[in-house]
Amino acid sequence: MNASRLDALVREQEQVERLDRETIEAIQLKKLNRLLAKERARAGFYREMPERLQSLGRLSDLPFTTDEDLAHHAGAMLLTSQSEIRRVLSDATSGTTGAAKRVFYSENDLERTVQLYMAGLGELIFPGSVTMIAFPFSGAFGLGELIADAVERLGARPIKAGPRLSYGELSALLEKERPDTFVGMPVQLLSLLRVCGRESLRRALVSGDACPETVLRGCETILGSSLFPHYGSREMGMAGAITCPAHVGMHLRENHVIAEIVDREGRVLPKGETGELVITTIGMEALPLIRYRTGDYTRILPEPCPCGCELLRLDSLRRGGEEGTMAELDDALFSIPDLVDYRITKADKGILIRAFSLGAEPERRIRKALGSHFAQEKLTIKCRAPRLSDRALYSGKRAILRAGE
Ligand SMILES: [Zn+2]
Repeated sequence: MNASRLDALVREQEQVERLDRETIEAIQLKKLNRLLAKERARAGFYREMPERLQSLGRLSDLPFTTDEDLAHHAGAMLLTSQSEIRRVLSDATSGTTGAAKRVFYSENDLERTVQLYMAGLGELIFPGSVTMIAFPFSGAFGLGELIADAVERLGARPIKAGPRLSYGELSALLEKERPDTFVGMPVQLLSLLRVCGRESLRRALVSGDACPETVLRGCETILGSSLFPHYGSREMGMAGAITCPAHVGMHLRENHVIAEIVDREGRVLPKGETGELVITTIGMEALPLIRYRTGDYTRILPEPCPCGCELLRLDSLRRGGEEGTMAELDDALFSIPDLVDYRITKADKGILIRAFSLGAEPERRIRKALGSHFAQEKLTIKCRAPRLSDRALYSGKRAILRAGE
């Protein structure tokens, strides 16, 4: 089995012959200490932190960075000048205060993101192949644009589909362009495959949202190949961990990110135990973060990877803990083989589920698959077959919506 392409990329970026744990951790400590010294020298956001750590083990002594910090102090955290910023991503979700969380990227940050995409996509895309990209295209250095850049540099042709095409438009695109690979969100892929069929598609990289087991298996059964999940939050440059030929977990680009898993009280958990992922982004040039709580839950796989690469592997990720999440509901509901998509809205009067299904008696089957979920609530299910003019019921991350959203 070939080692993860990430292994070769990190060796090249760091100019080292071999990536064993000792080398990886030495690189991390060096970059972390460089960051701490810089922050002290410029009296930056992290100026109260020690100037250097003796070992990586001392990282857990440092305080966490939160979403609130990012919303209110991103300017103070910025390490480069404004003129060096090529892209800013902001959103309106920042807990209690309503301020927008912003993340800044320099040209080097975005170049390293494209390089990581090339390593991840290089496992499933070959020169001459055709790749359909279902992430948004939003102008220079947008997510779709960065992926398309990586696809082109691998000698393949990107098809810029975006996330908002109807099932009819998707069918026409599959027929005309004959893509062999898909890059997009997991449920988006499953819906596409269930409505339009596999057609020319053979392989897929999924990212941008949780990938529950039944969604993964559902896609793999129709595609006839194993998926390549990717994980990357905005705070780590939209690029973090990629699947290798062993298809067990995702190797993390550890020359860029130090990962810790913590329990609810913030104590570091040993390998193999599930908790919240905390990241220290030593490789980000514009906006490096120290011990940022991601709100994503996972574990670090304790066993060595059969591919031979020693970069840590993350298990699949779930947003916001383990109970009652959208991922858990997706896991339950997409076990219905002809369910195409559904959307959940919570209102004072109860729960509304709107769904597209290709099978008979969908309401009864959805109620059965829900099991004990929403057992205490008034549940309304509105289901019909998808039409060609319909599109996916979520255009971004899946979540239980509040009425009015
Ligand atoms: Zn591996």
